Amino acid sequence: MESWKKYTQDPRIAYFSMEIGLKAEIPTYSGGLGVLAGDTIKSGADLKVPMVAVTLLYRKGYFEQKFSSDGWQQESEIEWQPEKHMELLPTKTLVTIGKRDVKVQAWLYRVKSPTGGVVPILFLDTDIPGNQDEDRTITHQLYGGDLDYRLKQEIVLGIGGARILKALSFDIKRYHMNEGHAALLTLELLNDAKLPLEETWDERNSWNTQQVIEQCVFTTHTPVPAGHDRFPYSLVEELMPEEVSIELLKDLAGNDELNMTMLAMNLSRYINGVAKRHGEVSQNMFPGFEIHAITNGIHPFTWCSPYFVELFDRYLPGWANEPELLVRVDNIPDEEIWETHLGAKALFFQYIKEKTGIELNPELLTIGFARRAATYKRGDLIFNNMEKLLEIGAGKLQFIFGGKAHPRDEDGKRVIQRIIQQAEKMKGKIDLVYLENYNMDVASRFIPGVDIWLNNPMRPLEASGTSGMKAALNGVPNFSVLDGWWIEGHIEGVTGWSIGPPPTEIDEEVGRANEDLDDMYRKLSEVIIPLYYNDRSGWINVMKNAIGKNAYYFNTHVMMRRYVTEAYIR
Ligand SMILES: *Cc1c(COP(=O)(O)O)cnc(C)c1O
Repeated sequence: MESWKKYTQDPRIAYFSMEIGLKAEIPTYSGGLGVLAGDTIKSGADLKVPMVAVTLLYRKGYFEQKFSSDGWQQESEIEWQPEKHMELLPTKTLVTIGKRDVKVQAWLYRVKSPTGGVVPILFLDTDIPGNQDEDRTITHQLYGGDLDYRLKQEIVLGIGGARILKALSFDIKRYHMNEGHAALLTLELLNDAKLPLEETWDERNSWNTQQVIEQCVFTTHTPVPAGHDRFPYSLVEELMPEEVSIELLKDLAGNDELNMTMLAMNLSRYINGVAKRHGEVSQNMFPGFEIHAITNGIHPFTWCSPYFVELFDRYLPGWANEPELLVRVDNIPDEEIWETHLGAKALFFQYIKEKTGIELNPELLTIGFARRAATYKRGDLIFNNMEKLLEIGAGKLQFIFGGKAHPRDEDGKRVIQRIIQQAEKMKGKIDLVYLENYNMDVASRFIPGVDIWLNNPMRPLEASGTSGMKAALNGVPNFSVLDGWWIEGHIEGVTGWSIGPPPTEIDEEVGRANEDLDDMYRKLSEVIIPLYYNDRSGWINVMKNAIGKNAYYFNTHVMMRRYVTEAYIR
């Protein structure tokens, strides 16, 4: 029997995502969206949920990041060998792009759980002899190229993905679109819907769309209109001739432009945002739809440092596949929590020394900040009043930063450069390291190895955020703006600390930066620094609450069970 056949015996949920992050060696992700997809699939495997995932192969990855001497980001292509990780399947399919047929092949990767569960992932690839050179590059680069390139990738993902599942004879009961990138799969399903011939055109269309709606689930991740993928119909007509009538498409995806979010929403039976707040924000943005909320999570075993794995195994056996057990964290003695944390911190500081030559002081309160360097995340906010920061933190604080800016995001690169230049200015008073090439490997050392995890995005732009959940699992409390998941996880002074005002009806960021900054400085100097240095057992209590009141719930096991019961089988 061919290798994939055993996955086609039973009905499955097909999970489509533009990026999937499983580990650093497979560089097919850029940040939170991809890591969430990977964590979702891993929990799916642990829980034996019948799934198959579909994404693109990206032979050149996202990119590798280095800094020039003046702190400017330099990018290079990543070389990796898919054949070392996955198996090329013999079955191919075709999609029409422009005037040409483009061959699409799939690589099979298996996510295997210790429970015996397996989720297969199909990585789609157009770099095949026989395809024209231009078409061979379609699946090379994640978020590379222009609008044409992006639409071609989305044709391969959505239409190519749906076709390859058919060609391999998968029996798909639900299609889950993780963000709008895969929404073109609905057009393939529309074409497949059985047409009762005697009906009129309108009746047929409405019957067909109903068939598709029954099969689809859509998760939106974007809290602002500008973040949704849109394509001019002229480009759609040029690249997708006759796939579907433009008239019908305008009905489903918007009159002026093809809006992938509209298309996905119009053809899904269940739609959700990725945190309670984000569900509300999305509901306001799209009043005509019913939008639910399922808060994101993280895969517990993947994001637990080896030190805490050992500790949890001893006191809370079974925690990795039943993270609810972390609610009993108070069974672990304080000293062991602290020693375990110091182990993770020392290991990370050793790594920093090897990478940069810089020796940080393990006694100092260490603030971590790492994520995509998008401007809304405001990585440089804390440096807006240097005088104040030095007054509060000299000799008491140090910072570690990480994160990549998108290659075409000049503003994001300027944020990085500004942070790196701060390091020079604060030298000898407050140490700061900006680590190169933040990825899943760096993240897994970084997040458990600091004392608090800082997050200060502009509200309401952090749809969920997940790195703070990784921190909580490792006993690293969050210090964050009340946005995304933190609105649900935050208990002031108990699980961590907020920055700035509570969320309001209309979250307009204008004028809020100073409010956030003042609150950040005040809490650091009056609450966080004194607690860390003067009340160690009080500090450890917050660490335990991060584990017992945040991590036990904000994980992809809990999240996956909700998708199954609320979206997939209902
Ligand atoms: C978890 C993770 C993210 C997401 O971080 P946020 O703070 O939630 O944006 C981004 N990049 C990597 C490598 C991660 O592991």
